[in-house]
Amino acid sequence: MNIGSTTRIMPKHKRMALVAHDNKKSDLIEWSTQRIDDLKFHHLFATGTTGHMLSKHTGLPVKCLFSGPLGGDQQLGALIAEGEIDVMIFFWDPLDAVPHDPDVKALLRLAAVWNIPVATNKSTANFLMDSVLMKQESEIEIPDYKSYLEQRLG
Ligand code: PGA
Repeated sequence: MNIGSTTRIMPKHKRMALVAHDNKKSDLIEWSTQRIDDLKFHHLFATGTTGHMLSKHTGLPVKCLFSGPLGGDQQLGALIAEGEIDVMIFFWDPLDAVPHDPDVKALLRLAAVWNIPVATNKSTANFLMDSVLMKQESEIEIPDYKSYLEQRLG
């Protein structure tokens, strides 16, 4: 479907979503510990288990949503659609199946629809954190919901 686009400004203190599947949680904790000074600058959101582990190990304040399999991925997806999340670090597990695979797909799909920067592994996460755009206001293109609705309603 071809819909118009508009833009939104991402704040300099980004609202970052952090999620890690079980086999990737230690990677995310290790990465977050290395990146603690950068992460301090932003507002952190996470799925339940990831978030609690993250704040326990790093001491960083994290807004914890529900655990992923119990709805946390969907909560994050809703926040992305509402323009409340700017960046997502999602260490998903490419070598194991999870019970909430449809939710994982939905989360990644909404991140693509709303054009937010997403890192799914450590190297991309490092590239992302080192981008000058991380600590300054930056503009992204997003779907123009108003014109989408006008098209649909005729
Ligand atoms: P968790 O959820 O942080 O509660 O483990 C992550 C996920 O599997 O989506």
